[in-house]
Amino acid sequence: MAASPPRSLGHAVTIGVRPAVPAAVDAGAALTVRLFVACRSGCDLRGRIVRLVAPDGAVTVHELTGHVDGTTVTDEICVHTPHAAGVSTWGLVFPGHAAGRVTHDAAAVAMDVDVRPHDTSVVVWDVPSPVPVGTPFTVKVGVRCATLCRLTGHAVEVRADGVTVGRGTLGALPWPDTRGLHWAEVPVVAPATPGLAHWAGIFTGVNATPDHRASQAPFTFRVEPPPAHRVALTVTVRDTGAPLGGADVRVGVYRAVTDAAGQADVPVPAGSYDVVVETDGFAGHLPGLDVHGDVSVTVAAVRTPTEAEEHEALERYEASQWG
Ligand SMILES: [Zn+2]
Ligand SMILES: [Zn+2]
Repeated sequence: MAASPPRSLGHAVTIGVRPAVPAAVDAGAALTVRLFVACRSGCDLRGRIVRLVAPDGAVTVHELTGHVDGTTVTDEICVHTPHAAGVSTWGLVFPGHAAGRVTHDAAAVAMDVDVRPHDTSVVVWDVPSPVPVGTPFTVKVGVRCATLCRLTGHAVEVRADGVTVGRGTLGALPWPDTRGLHWAEVPVVAPATPGLAHWAGIFTGVNATPDHRASQAPFTFRVEPPPAHRVALTVTVRDTGAPLGGADVRVGVYRAVTDAAGQADVPVPAGSYDVVVETDGFAGHLPGLDVHGDVSVTVAAVRTPTEAEEHEALERYEASQWG
């Protein structure tokens, strides 16, 4: 009995993705690739299809449209990596075909891709120091995603020894002249004990989509003892001796505004202070005021150009340039 001719075997093919997907990619990244099927005999497989199985099981069908150097490829397609970090598995299936003189075997391949959370970095700025015990103040906390995500609306925290002491929400606009540094002004209250405070600005990454790594930035500030003494300030105009009301006065970091009689009481802890007086049209300075108990001082403020006068001078200057 004559042997029947051997059953014809289909051509074997290899399938894959071009360019090769890196072993690790960012969560939620868009990748532009072509799917390919390569027959060892270099057959042109245009018109046949490849199925792509996403990590969530969704299947999309792509036609092979190009044939270059013995490999048949699809058009460029855009795939998005999952938002959740971890290993994601993609499937690629070539169904094969038995029609026609030449047949091609089916082929399938699974590709593992390590999906990484986005790296983030935190910066904290505008931290006043020193701050009197128990005083409310604000710091700015900014967060930047390495992939430049818009992190608007996400929460930031300030923590002291792991305990949350302030919260803020990242705003819509990045800090001027930065790329993607979204920021929040976070209100906090200084500790009740004097000394050096070591706090941190925190981005937890919780609820961020796609997944983001948490990050933090430590910051320090000095906490001053509570004011125990009183600086009774009288601010006068040097030329006339008249009281200067409504002037901003600063004794170190402690602030007040003079009343109609040119007077302001500023409670401060013991120490040595620069006293500064500022108001539109006047300025005064008293360096090195030593405070060991209640003290009364007078500061004679000198006349300086008002904002209106400076504005007028600038306009005159500009007129002279162009007139
Ligand atoms: Zn072939
Ligand atoms: Zn991001």
